[in-house]
Amino acid sequence: MQLVFATNNPNKLKEVQSLIPEHIKLLSLKDIGCFEDVPETQDSIEGNAIQKAAYIKKNYDCDCFADDTGLQVEALNGAPGVFSARYAGAQRDSNDNMDLLLENLNDKPNRNAQFKTVIALHLNGNLKMFTGICKGQITTERQGLKGFGYDPIFKAEGYDQTFAEISLAEKNKIGHRGKAVNALVAFLNDL
Ligand code: IMP
Repeated sequence: MQLVFATNNPNKLKEVQSLIPEHIKLLSLKDIGCFEDVPETQDSIEGNAIQKAAYIKKNYDCDCFADDTGLQVEALNGAPGVFSARYAGAQRDSNDNMDLLLENLNDKPNRNAQFKTVIALHLNGNLKMFTGICKGQITTERQGLKGFGYDPIFKAEGYDQTFAEISLAEKNKIGHRGKAVNALVAFLNDL
C-alpha cells in the first residue's frame, strides 16, 4: 500500500516513518511533486488536519494523511494551540516561540500543558480521524538539545527529562504524534 504523508518537515517524516510498518510505503509531498504550501488556515487542530488532507486528495488524487499538532497550555487557556508554529510571529522560529511562552508563563504557578496531534486520513473515499494526546508540564528553562519545536521546555507526565533530552524511540512511545500514528497504524493493519 502507498500512502502520502502530507508534510515537508523532515523531523516529522523521520518520526512517523519509524512507526509505519514496512508493507506500507510512505511517500512525502516531494515524492508526489507537491512543492507548494499546503493551506492550513482553519482555527482548530482538527480543521487544519482535515484541510491539508483534503487539499492533497483533491489536487493529487491519492490516498493520504495529514497531521496537525498544537501545544495547549492550561494557564493560557489552551494557547498557543493551533498557533503553535507561529506563536511569536510569522518567522515560525522555535527559539522565539519558547522565549514568548516562558515569558507568558513567568508569573503562573500552573505549568500544566499537553501536546495534541490530530491525523486526518483519506483512504478509499473515506475520511477517518485519529488523535493522540501527551500530558505534561512546561519547564522554567530549556533543557536538552534533541527534537524540535517546544521539546526543550516540555516534560511529559512522570518524566524528569524534557522531550529534548530523551531518545526519539522513547518520545515516540509516549508522545502525542506516536499515539496518533499508532492509532492510524492499528486501523491500517485491520483493513
Ligand atoms: P505541526 O502541526 O506538526 O506542524 O506543529 C505545529 C507546531 O507545534 C510546530 O511548529 C512546533 O512548534 C510544535 N510541535 C509540533 N510537534 C511537536 C513536538 O513533537 N515537539 C515540540 N513541538 C512540536
